[in-house]
Amino acid sequence: MADHSTMDSIETDILVLGAGGAGLCAALHAADRSPNLSVTVVVKGLLGRAGCTRMVQGGYNAVLTPPDSIDAHFTDTLQGGGWINDQDLAWTLVTQAPGRVLELEARYGCFFDRHPDGRIHQKPFAGQSHDRTIHKGDLTGIEIMSRLSEQVWRRPSVHALEEHRAVELLRDDSGRVAGALVLDVRRGTLVAVSSRATLLAMGGGPTMYRVIACSADKAADGIALGFRAGLRARDMEMVQFHPTGLIVPNSLMTGTLLEEGLRGAGGRLINGRGERFMERYDPKRMERSTRDLVARASFTEVVEGRGTPHGGVWIDVSHLGAEVVERSFRGMVKRCRDFGYDLAREPVEVGPTTHFMMGGVAIDSGCRTDLEGLFAAGEDAGGVHGANRLGGNGVAESTVFGGIAGDAMAEWVVGRYRPRMPRLTAEAAARRVLAPLERREGESLYALQSRLREVMWEHVGLIRTGAGLKTALAEIEEIGRRAEGAAVPGGAAYNLAWQDWLNLQNQATVAWLIARSALERAESRGSHHRRDFPEPSADLFNVYVGFADGAAPKVWTEPVRLNRLRPEAARPAPAVEVGD
Ligand SMILES: Cc1cc2nc3c(=O)[nH]c(=O)nc-3n(C[C@H](O)[C@H](O)[C@H](O)COP(=O)(O)OP(=O)(O)OC[C@H]3O[C@@H](n4cnc5c(N)ncnc54)[C@H](O)[C@@H]3O)c2cc1C
Repeated sequence: MADHSTMDSIETDILVLGAGGAGLCAALHAADRSPNLSVTVVVKGLLGRAGCTRMVQGGYNAVLTPPDSIDAHFTDTLQGGGWINDQDLAWTLVTQAPGRVLELEARYGCFFDRHPDGRIHQKPFAGQSHDRTIHKGDLTGIEIMSRLSEQVWRRPSVHALEEHRAVELLRDDSGRVAGALVLDVRRGTLVAVSSRATLLAMGGGPTMYRVIACSADKAADGIALGFRAGLRARDMEMVQFHPTGLIVPNSLMTGTLLEEGLRGAGGRLINGRGERFMERYDPKRMERSTRDLVARASFTEVVEGRGTPHGGVWIDVSHLGAEVVERSFRGMVKRCRDFGYDLAREPVEVGPTTHFMMGGVAIDSGCRTDLEGLFAAGEDAGGVHGANRLGGNGVAESTVFGGIAGDAMAEWVVGRYRPRMPRLTAEAAARRVLAPLERREGESLYALQSRLREVMWEHVGLIRTGAGLKTALAEIEEIGRRAEGAAVPGGAAYNLAWQDWLNLQNQATVAWLIARSALERAESRGSHHRRDFPEPSADLFNVYVGFADGAAPKVWTEPVRLNRLRPEAARPAPAVEVGD
């Protein structure tokens, strides 16, 4: 066996796991609130370069000027979310987003696009009653992540551990979170990081599906770690599928987003028989229908045998004129050209792609979780978006709640002792993590990974049934069991197969949470569609999975707390959906 006595150890006041918009805002807020505290940021890739915040093209929702209003943003967010959002979290999002945008510009140096008179430009976006989406061309995420990273490097109290991944949370004898076991991917060694407060900001990541749009470095690690440590996960069945992922046969690039601006501008979706099939699903709004409905319609065309040669549908914008398309959608024209497609002049094959997780660990509006000393923010946390996220609300969520978590942790540690590092627990976790390196023979990791992706796509994807979900649960459990026995060839340093093994453990855990919650939700709402229960139920409820008091996971529902706005008091939903 490997020698665990060589495990390194680090002490820090605040431990931030993940470095997207949520992790970096948390680190900056904690450092600025109390410069005497040490802050350690652990990131699986390179700081500022990993995760989904960097991939944000479309923009950032925040209310800046009338006639838009906080109430309108709040109502849009709840309507988009099918009324199962946590209303306190949604309210926190909409009330704090304007301040965070100003902070991103004035304090951290971001610069968003402007009108000629100097006002920040805001564009129309997904299901919103006003032009609300702030952007930097179609590279908004790069602007935000570049400026936040520069700021982090300038804070002497913040220390970044790049190419390190969190593998397990560690709790002391009293149950308080005492830090995390972290793997140095380059060296292949383990580090026990002891902290007084810890943040989950690993960005969820539905990478257990066959076709994905999100950053492939993510494996829902934060949700899996939190759940294993004892947190409740909420509304995990709510996984968002985007209708227009590029299809590139035999390439990992399949699933890459073509943004919804194409449909908004008049793009047409055509099936393999040349029919404009949205006429059958939503004749009034056609391709401008909601993201979930268009994605499901395309999926149905394919499974019913009316797909394109590579199992998708066509998106056609050529009738808009080549010059208009090249000018308005420069990034997408270039991306398509990289794969030999001429978006401006011919139809391009697209299909639904797995985009975002609305579910996650349960938090309150101060980012506190159920475990003492543990906080969560961004896509790891559930509740803000309910059953469907509006385009532009994702990066707002990560930066708003990241900042809140940073402030909350800096305050929380004051006067609190450092928990004792549970050495034996850390060593047991280390043994589990190192086990596949010791095996010469075992299950094929990649066969299991690919089986999981197929099962999720087929049975826990855009259209679900009770029978399919039960089949999926049995398969996921089997995959999880067999993955435990998989072998990983090679040594510990920079062993990518070992990283995939660690990813698979967490993907299987979270796949189970999604499938189990989907089985519990016997209705269709937002991104969750059950063929056996095609209508929304009269009751509004949230689905939770947690350990409650026992060793086996328990699933239960709770009525939604409509403590700020009731559906019957809201104005009608805006008709057109365009955005990321
Ligand atoms: C293609 C695309 C386009 C999008 N466009 C928009 C848009 O226009 N507007 C919008 O509002 N939203 C958009 N979104 C959603 C938005 O990107 C997310 O809501 C948001 O960025 C999530 O931020 P986060 O900080 O929670 O996670 P991320 O930004 O994904 O960061 C997660 C971080 O955790 C790290 N990490 C993961 N696992 C570990 C581990 N085990 N140990 C250590 N570190 C780990 C990752 O490396 C990364 O640094 C888009 C998403 C995609 C995929």
